[in-house]
Order: sequence, then C-alpha cells, then structure tokens
Amino acid sequence: MDLQAAGDRDLRERLLADATVTSAIERLNKKGLGEGARRHLLATATRLTEAMAPDVHAIIDGCRQTLGVDGTLEIYVYPEPRFNAAAVKPEKGRLLMMVSSSLLEAFEPDELRFVAGHEVGHFLFDHHAIPTGALLGGKARLPPQLALRLFAWQRYAEISADRAGLACAGGLEPAARGLFKLASGLKGDRIKILIEGFLAQVGDLRREAETLDVDVQARRGDWFATHPFSPLRLKAAELCVESEVITPGGTSRDELEARVQELMTLMDPSYLTAKTGVARPCVGCSLPAGLRWRSPPAVRRLRKRSRRSRSSLAPGHCRPSSSPRSSRRISRVGSRKSRKACRPFVVLRCCATCV
Ligand SMILES: [Zn+2]
Repeated sequence: MDLQAAGDRDLRERLLADATVTSAIERLNKKGLGEGARRHLLATATRLTEAMAPDVHAIIDGCRQTLGVDGTLEIYVYPEPRFNAAAVKPEKGRLLMMVSSSLLEAFEPDELRFVAGHEVGHFLFDHHAIPTGALLGGKARLPPQLALRLFAWQRYAEISADRAGLACAGGLEPAARGLFKLASGLKGDRIKILIEGFLAQVGDLRREAETLDVDVQARRGDWFATHPFSPLRLKAAELCVESEVITPGGTSRDELEARVQELMTLMDPSYLTAKTGVARPCVGCSLPAGLRWRSPPAVRRLRKRSRRSRSSLAPGHCRPSSSPRSSRRISRVGSRKSRKACRPFVVLRCCATCV
C-alpha cells in the first residue's frame, strides 16, 4: 500500500534537486542541526518506558508494524494543555516521539492510533530530510518561489502522514474524531462529534474563498501554513478512504491525487492566479502576477504576527519560528525566555514534525 501523497513525492523530488536547498541542508548538517535533541528531551520531558505506559507502547508498536518502520523508539511526554504530538528527527538510529500530556489523557485509543500512525508516517516518508523550519527561519535568503514550495511541500507531507494515520487507525471515524479534537481543543465529553458537520466546513470555506475579493495580503498567512486547515485534512482523508489506496475497487489513485491537489490549492497562491486568469503551471509554488515578495525577515515578522492571531493558522500547526540560533537564545540560563526551555517542543521545533 503506497500511502505517500503525489504532491509530497513530487515536491520533495523537486526540492532535493534544487542546489540552493541541498547546499543549505549540507551547511545545517555540518552545524549539527538536530543533534542533542535526545539529550534535551531527557532533560526536559519524561520518557515513558514500556512498564510505565504499556498500552501507549502497544499502540505505537502496532503502528510501526503496520507501516514497517523499524528502529529503537523512545516516547516522551511533556506538560502542555494544547493537544500535540511530534516526530523528532531520528538521532543515532533512535526514533524520538513527543506527545503532549493533554493529548495522551484526552484521546481514545483509536484516536491515539491515528496520531501515532501520523507521526510514524513522518519517519516512514523521511520527512526530516528537508528541515523546513531551519531552512525558512535561518539566515539563508531563499528565492520566494522556493520558500512557497517548501511550505506547499510541508502541507502535502501532512497529507501523507494523515494517510499513514488512517491506515493505523483502521478507518475514517477515529481519524475524524482525532482531527476534530486537535482542531477544537475539546475532549468530546460535552459535545457530539459529527463528521458530516466538520466536513461541511470545507464547502463553506470554499464558498467564502470564492466570494471574497482577491485580497492577496489577507491570504498570505495561508501560504505560510505548515499544515493544511483541519477540515481540508479531513476531506483529504475521506477521499483517501474512498479510493483504491485504502478500499479495493474505490476511486482511482489518479482521481484521488487530482482531487487532493484541487483541495490544497485553496491554501496556495495558484488559487488566486486561477481566479485572476493568470494561472501558471506549477501548483503550489507560483506567485500571482504583480505580487511583491517580502524579504525573509518580513516573512518571519509575518509568521510572528500569525502566531499571535491564530485565526490564520491551521490547528495542529507547527509554529515555524525556530532556528539553531533562536534555539540557543531561548536556552540561555537566566533570561526570561529560558522559562520556555522547559517546554521541549519550543526548542525542538526546528527538527520536529508535529500532528
Ligand atoms: Zn505531521
């Protein structure tokens, strides 16, 4: 079963064929990007051994078996009211997974299977090979089309990881509940989780996008999102379940990928170019005609603003601000920011892919 989204595979190939990307990755690796992640986790999070959490280990081991991912796995829990989980760049053959305390306590076993499958999927598809957080947040001045392509690839990588989660969870229902909880922050004990209601947001989102004026500035936040909007993720998961990828005799893989691509254009500049009649052939990496690109520092400022106003970000969004330099800054003892260092996710963002 090939679960990788075509957009993930295609954009990844293009990115790894780009000399700017490969030389930047080489430089980051020489500087030791991601090294010390395990040490940091051991120091600031709690490792869940098999004796402590046999059911959690069984769920994650089951996912690894389903997806065929070997290697020593270490699971860490960290105190955090926000539901989140992340796969950290493997270190010396060790797979490191982080789960927030709130998620671990609020998610049902099948929902946790979706989340665990999603994170194992990041290992399976080797999504850490392109350290987008460090590339986009670093000093390197990336050409604008390349920066947009990196963000577009991240969103497609999430679609691949969701498919891995689906395969592990055994269907759309637990995946939908998991995505709903991630998006809403609710545990589900006071509300009824209805997939149709959540999916209906996709239609309304599309209609809103179509009725709004072509306001480039208002849409910039979408292009810099590391994750597709949650309703889009659920719709893409539903399309996958209905396809031959999961269901024998379902819709063809080509149709699945075409519909997912159409869905994803809601979050990239090609949606605007299509509306203005100047669409270019490269979906996910073209700027509308006449759009001025901001310099990377301006992009970072924009992302800081986006973090403050979470309305423009997808729930489950990996906040993409960290670079090796900023990681050092927030680890400085005695500074106000050092308090954040007790939250491992803040520091390891540069080498982690979250749910
Ligand atoms: Zn993810």
